[in-house]
Amino acid sequence: MTATRPAVLDLLPAELVAEAARLDAEDPLAAHRERFVLPEGVVAYLDGNSLGRPLKATRDRLPGFVEQEWGERLIRSWDERWMARPTELGDLVGRAALGAAPGQTVVADSTTVLLYKLVRAAVTARPDRTVIVADTENFPTDRYVVDAVARETGREVRWISPDPATGVQPEEVAAHVGADTALVLLSHVAYKSAFVADLAGITAVAHDAGALVLWDLSHSAGAVELALDDADVDLAVGCSYKYLNGGPGAPAFAYVASRLHDELVQPIAGWMGHADPFAMGPSYAPAAGVRRLVSGTPPILGMLPLQDMAALVEQVGMPAIRAKSVLLTAYVLRVADEALASHGVTVASPRDPAVRGGHVTLDHPAMQQVVATLWERGVVPDFRHPSGLRAGMSPLSTSFTEVAVALAHVVDCLQPTAP
Ligand SMILES: *Cc1c(COP(=O)(O)O)cnc(C)c1O
Repeated sequence: MTATRPAVLDLLPAELVAEAARLDAEDPLAAHRERFVLPEGVVAYLDGNSLGRPLKATRDRLPGFVEQEWGERLIRSWDERWMARPTELGDLVGRAALGAAPGQTVVADSTTVLLYKLVRAAVTARPDRTVIVADTENFPTDRYVVDAVARETGREVRWISPDPATGVQPEEVAAHVGADTALVLLSHVAYKSAFVADLAGITAVAHDAGALVLWDLSHSAGAVELALDDADVDLAVGCSYKYLNGGPGAPAFAYVASRLHDELVQPIAGWMGHADPFAMGPSYAPAAGVRRLVSGTPPILGMLPLQDMAALVEQVGMPAIRAKSVLLTAYVLRVADEALASHGVTVASPRDPAVRGGHVTLDHPAMQQVVATLWERGVVPDFRHPSGLRAGMSPLSTSFTEVAVALAHVVDCLQPTAP
């Protein structure tokens, strides 16, 4: 931490500032913050749930990649390392963040495209079932994709409308699935409230009805512990540019449980997911294993930052990362109660840490203007319609004092202006 104390901290009760300093001093992961690119102009960054900060390791490695792997090895790098990268990196992500044994995770495409492929493959694998169960609080792309696949395949979407404050409950899923249900698609951590769904419980409910289940882990991977194999999950996708710091537009990951590999046929039959791409044969035959989810040439350059961050996540371990994440969100709640509530701010995220993900949403009617002002000051959370400030704290790159500074600026923005 820099030595100078930002004056804005005077706007918080002294014990809250002291608490942030104490949490930083006791934080076993504090030293990792220095691994990230930390420009002076960024006063506080609370949008790690939308775009994680880059690692210095990534910054330093990119030129070498251009010089050697690309510049010198040229096309030979495809044989030497790039062909295997989607599944090798998938295995690393699976190990580090998903609780997935090797051979079930692949890195390719965007989350949206992987969602499409998996939703389509899942309904095709359950031809006699006509319903996809999804929820109205899910991220727009997830809702649009199930709608589109339903239309395209003559299926119907049965929507759960959960209470945003409590998220989708297993009983609600039980009330919506049946012998007609091909697939249940849900997010594990809700993108607005950060509510954490009961992944294992809901998976079991879907399986009892004979349905497949597809989890979107975009707001979970790298923030919340996952045990996909243990929970018997069928399918999952997630972003790598959020808590996995893969960089803007980084390719996403998909998980397919081994038991489903032979059964699932994805809709974009491309040569790079072929069993023998360089045979250049007359017709498509899917590769063995999760490799079959690849369609075209994989975005190798875009995988480099994810590789660095996934390696760091594996080294630190998700239990320690989640433990810090819980302390960060708990600190935001404490500041919200003790310094922001009196300005009309309300908390729109769970108070029980067991069902709270890596971000906290704070509501106020003037929040859109507040966030615009914060951005001008180099304090960067994000705004979610209609009145939410989302404070997404990437555990390895965020300090408690950084959070205190950001929320002190919120107090400043909400203070009545002098007459
Ligand atoms: C961020 C996010 C996405 C984004 O999908 P892209 O294809 O990367 O734009 C999808 N689903 C959820 C739940 C998300 O949080």
